[in-house]
Amino acid sequence: MKILVINAGSSSLKYQLIDMEDESIHAIGLCERIGIDGHIKHKPLVNGKPVFEADLSMPTHAEAIEAVLDKLVSPEYGVVSSMSEISAVGHRVLHGGIEFAKSVFIDKACMDAIERCIPLGPLHNPANIMGIEACRKVMGDKVPMVAVFDTAFHMTMPAKACTYAIPYEYTEKDNLRRYGFHGTSHRFVSENARRMLGKLDDPNSKIIVCHLGNGSSLSAVKGGKCVDTSMGLSPLVGLPMGTRCGDIDPTVLQFIMNKYSMTMDEVMTMMNKKSGVLGVSGVSSDFRDLGKAAEEGNERAQLALDMFHYWVAKVVGSYAAAMNGVDGIAFTGGIGENGCDSRAAICEYLGYLGVKIDEEANKNRGKEMFISTEDSKVKVMVIPTNEELVIARDTQAIVNAMK
Ligand code: ADP
Repeated sequence: MKILVINAGSSSLKYQLIDMEDESIHAIGLCERIGIDGHIKHKPLVNGKPVFEADLSMPTHAEAIEAVLDKLVSPEYGVVSSMSEISAVGHRVLHGGIEFAKSVFIDKACMDAIERCIPLGPLHNPANIMGIEACRKVMGDKVPMVAVFDTAFHMTMPAKACTYAIPYEYTEKDNLRRYGFHGTSHRFVSENARRMLGKLDDPNSKIIVCHLGNGSSLSAVKGGKCVDTSMGLSPLVGLPMGTRCGDIDPTVLQFIMNKYSMTMDEVMTMMNKKSGVLGVSGVSSDFRDLGKAAEEGNERAQLALDMFHYWVAKVVGSYAAAMNGVDGIAFTGGIGENGCDSRAAICEYLGYLGVKIDEEANKNRGKEMFISTEDSKVKVMVIPTNEELVIARDTQAIVNAMK
């Protein structure tokens, strides 16, 4: 079974075609500047065909999907001989609200529920809906489609972890609560961590996943179920990130809005796009640039890095407390998988938990491995995430179950 995995943003659309026989990726690509002008990059991975990259008019997501399918079946750049070889489509959807605790077959009721979640995910859900509707339009209604939600894995959080301490009517009436994101990644990585530790089915296993990328979040996973996570109603909070501010006293917003006559939207844009390690350092949101600048003596770049490492360690400590212990800590995401210096700096804080890092092992990057020593009380792992594979697996399972 070949499955097309779609991750639609407001002006971009990423895709992978995955063959579930051996879970290999047959093609990967990206449409950008949808609704502006349009650009596609398509890369076949199995048959030695060349990469296709060009500007292409894409007024809406429908033209982007058309371009993707056109390239997937093209004799020159394609990886399938006809569209009928694509058995199903799996869509990443950002916010499932309280409606979705797992992946679901997309039907009218599902679309209505994704729509109901728009107030909770106003930036992403409309784009996800456009991606689904574009696929329907171009592929027809015979091809089954599945929605996989970023929030779903975190729906097992107990009320004490996900309730905001505001008047309870907002929790009850408006579903304002901590949801958490990167759920597909936290699920994949925590499962692999349990497997690596020989604790896959242990109901008392305690894993902390550190997903560290442009957006970063941590989760505490006990017996395979998420019990806490650092992002909230939106992906803005928790750790300071590439450009997002993370946890902040709301009074800071009031102060800035009053003093600089800024609107709420302007302040939100500042906190989403101009803050985090970029805002603190004034250098970059990219950790490689920050490392280089810090080495050259840039103190604010060093401060941004120090803040980030401190925050990760602080949240790890709080999750060890929440779970009354921790068996394994797993690093993933661009920084978690590749940032050896960041991993070392974070683990420096964790000696009190019995964490000991194997410095040689920690020099590796981008592959699944232990980076703690044999006698480390808590095992530390690097586990490359693969959200697209989870989406494809869920899609296959749901489609097969319907046969
Ligand atoms: P996204 O959240 O957009 O998926 P990624 O998971 O791809 O982001 O992570 C991007 C981050 O990973 C960037 O800050 C980048 O600097 C960092 N990164 C990538 N490679 C390295 C590396 N070799 N060393 C340190 N950081 C790295």
